[in-house]
Amino acid sequence: MRQILFLRDPGYTRCPSCKNVSSLHRSRARSFKEKLIKATKLYKIYRCKTCGWRGYFATIVITKKDIKLFFMYGAIALLSGLIIREILKRFLTT
Ligand SMILES: [Zn+2]
Repeated sequence: MRQILFLRDPGYTRCPSCKNVSSLHRSRARSFKEKLIKATKLYKIYRCKTCGWRGYFATIVITKKDIKLFFMYGAIALLSGLIIREILKRFLTT
């Protein structure tokens, strides 16, 4: 049971560089850029103990549905921005 639960841990996913299973470890942010990436909570930094590969893995997966929603909200924001601008224009000219 315990092992099944641990299968989802990125430590058991393959290293993208050497394809080694269970050689990935959580790594500390070294540079300012990495600290920024870590601060967004969208990515976690990993390091491969076999080949020394370092990289990020997304903590969330963006689906097509999420992208659609994002564009929908973007369109609404843009539209309301244009309406506000029109109202302001009229208000300022009269
Ligand atoms: Zn590796």
